[in-house]
Amino acid sequence: MAKLDYDYIIIGAGAAGLLLADALGKDTYFKNKTILLVDKDAKKSNDRTWCFWERGKGEFDGLLHKEWNNIVFSGQDFSKSYAIAPYSYKMVRGLDFYIHYFEKIKNYPNINFKQETVSDVVKTSGNVIVSTQENQYSCQKVFDSRFHYSMIPNKGKYPVIQQHFVGWVIKTPSPIFNVDEATYMDFSVPQKGNTRFMYVLPFKEDVALVEYTLFSEHLLPKTEYEAAIKDYIENHLNCDSYEILEREQGNIPMTCFDFTKNNDERVTCIGTAGGWAKPSTGYTFMNTSKKIPLLVSNLKLEGQPQSLKQDKRFWFYDLLFLDVLHSNNAIGHKIFTRLFKSRPPQLIFKFLDEETHLWEEIYYILGCPKIPFLKAFFKRLF
Ligand SMILES: Cc1cc2nc3c(=O)[nH]c(=O)nc-3n(C[C@H](O)[C@H](O)[C@H](O)COP(=O)(O)OP(=O)(O)OC[C@H]3O[C@@H](n4cnc5c(N)ncnc54)[C@H](O)[C@@H]3O)c2cc1C
Repeated sequence: MAKLDYDYIIIGAGAAGLLLADALGKDTYFKNKTILLVDKDAKKSNDRTWCFWERGKGEFDGLLHKEWNNIVFSGQDFSKSYAIAPYSYKMVRGLDFYIHYFEKIKNYPNINFKQETVSDVVKTSGNVIVSTQENQYSCQKVFDSRFHYSMIPNKGKYPVIQQHFVGWVIKTPSPIFNVDEATYMDFSVPQKGNTRFMYVLPFKEDVALVEYTLFSEHLLPKTEYEAAIKDYIENHLNCDSYEILEREQGNIPMTCFDFTKNNDERVTCIGTAGGWAKPSTGYTFMNTSKKIPLLVSNLKLEGQPQSLKQDKRFWFYDLLFLDVLHSNNAIGHKIFTRLFKSRPPQLIFKFLDEETHLWEEIYYILGCPKIPFLKAFFKRLF
């Protein structure tokens, strides 16, 4: 067999690609494996912010841009600030993450980075050929983080909702933000038949990310997200003049489709493309950092690999939630309001982290509106 150009090729140097490259680079087990990391982008801009909750200290603490110990939840007739200890809500800027991990990866002699656009991945009898617009590389295994909605084939079986958002980092002329609390969800905005909320992360008293987010089937014209942000800043934050420092936008799949079906011996999809976005929340970052060690240990294992799939019980809870939102997209604010009125955020975080016991899950579920969930349950059952 002809000599392969690389043992492994990682497509995409985003959250999943960089965490995987780092995990392989620092593990001496892989010191004789040659690895190509390829991305179409130089990753030199702050294209996103990642937030997640965590109990106590964590592996990204050195990279945190901000951390909050309180969150605010607002419904249409209800608003409350919650102390979330022992959790905190943490934020990492994309650019800080990219700089940090590229710096680490530069020091691994077996990992090579190329800025090229991958156009094709073809499996041949003995290897995989990755074509970019500039070159062709052969390898034994590919880890692919390119995501596209066409990866989700069976739209009929599992609903596909999108978490879509546009956010502006704004600077106001005077201090208007409380830097001690992050607005996790503010449903006081018009729902217009969907699940729509504002998300506000204050970094300083005069600087915050204000993001308009929907959990719904279809995207909006860009002007509609922007008009909603503008309206919120002017009429809710009571601020007429401000400067937009940065913009971000995103679209995360919310679906219970089993993405691991797209994997085989030679190509493993990772990150969002691997189905590592939590179906009911779209939170992907922490999940990715939990999946990478499993993936790495599978590479070392001779025997049965550990499953990269979501836990079955939590998969079913997520499925019911998405079924409910899919059949009545306007109900989202009622579900979250009921939950935040009746259950502590610590339990909500624990449940969403899939770390609760069955009795806690029953208590959690009883905090949701019962009829839509019962309907969804029986519809799935029969
Ligand atoms: C703006 C934004 C904010 C988000 N905020 C949060 C958050 O707060 N918390 C959270 O948990 N999740 C968040 N997410 C969701 C998720 O965590 C991120 O999308 C995360 O970056 C997913 O990691 P990934 O590696 O799968 O994809 P990405 O980080 O998007 O990496 C994919 C990489 O592949 C590269 N690529 C794509 N096509 C090609 C090609 N043809 N050739 C070569 N390279 C290619 C891209 O340039 C990119 O660098 C957010 C997403 C976005 C977009």
